[in-house]
Amino acid sequence: MPAPVTATAEAQLIRPHGGELTERSGERPDGIDQLDTVRLTSRELSDLDMLGSGALSPLTGFMGRDDYEHVIEEMRLATGLPWALPVCLAVAEPPQGDRVALADESGRALAVLEIEDVFEYDKEREAERCFGTRDEAHPGVARLYAQQSKYVAGPVIVFERQEPPFPGLHKDPRDTRAAFAERGWRRVVGFQTRNPIHRAHEYLTKCALETVDGLLIHPLVGETKADDVPAATRVEAYEVLIEGYYPKNRVVVSAFPAAMRYAGPREAVWHAICRKNYGCSHFIVGRDHAGVGDYYGTYDAQLIFDEFEPHELDIEPMFFEHSFWCRVCGQMATAKTCPHPADDHVFLSGTKVRELLANGELPPAEFSRPEVAEVLIAAYRQP
Ligand SMILES: [Zn+2]
Repeated sequence: MPAPVTATAEAQLIRPHGGELTERSGERPDGIDQLDTVRLTSRELSDLDMLGSGALSPLTGFMGRDDYEHVIEEMRLATGLPWALPVCLAVAEPPQGDRVALADESGRALAVLEIEDVFEYDKEREAERCFGTRDEAHPGVARLYAQQSKYVAGPVIVFERQEPPFPGLHKDPRDTRAAFAERGWRRVVGFQTRNPIHRAHEYLTKCALETVDGLLIHPLVGETKADDVPAATRVEAYEVLIEGYYPKNRVVVSAFPAAMRYAGPREAVWHAICRKNYGCSHFIVGRDHAGVGDYYGTYDAQLIFDEFEPHELDIEPMFFEHSFWCRVCGQMATAKTCPHPADDHVFLSGTKVRELLANGELPPAEFSRPEVAEVLIAAYRQP
């Protein structure tokens, strides 16, 4: 029998960012049908859902000018609290009235926003500050440039949650916190991923887990680039990996509903802050976290954490090197822990792995667990 969850057990977890979970869910207010409606993009819908669940605490809605300016220039909210990326809602024209309904792509109203501000913004400046580039070949920049030209700001109430893509893996911050408390965990490391987990990722999650009580595998299931591995395949791969290779009482798997922004370093900080709201005290930051193409330096997403005092973020980033199987060491290792030359390491490029899988061939067991490879092969074979 698991011990009952007590307030004490939850109180031992890290506090949400800003101190409290700001869950912006509530009853559907009267008169929604009479309001102007804004249809949100998939990225904005992900943000809205996270506002509803408290994953973006302490935000209560889409950012106003003051917070936006501070975030862009200083990576802080107007209060001084660290915050790495804008959470804004773009519109073509200011909506009529003092409230506006927020709808999904089909027009179904999900939330109401109390309009506090509508302001113009400079897309190129936002791109430069947040993505470190104005290049429209960058997927995050391209999406920013395609947005409407004004931001509408104000607190939201989400009265209808979107159907989660993986209901079995759906956990809001209050749910992961309860799950951790129920297991008696205090120190929990979060692992962000948008790729299938190969041995390299398994190794670093286990290295991290050796030093804390529990592991949250938190795959991102919001919108990603079309050439990323589909979320359903990734989720199935995590399931078989955990089934075969992790002690179940030390791992929670849940979907992270955010959309990828591909903002590299800033997104690493943003991901860490969100995971703190889910109850993680530690967060794994690998090389080129949330990167794309050659836009960011290999270690930029780790170095950016130096811009904050440790107590400001509270959640502790754990930095990892690229890891590999070393034939001489006879185990997984990194350049930090293995003295042998690259010839002794099992290395496969991403292209090579995809080629093997597409041909129905298993990569070496030192690279990929066969159960995981089988899932990926099956996915490649689907028409
Ligand atoms: Zn070695």
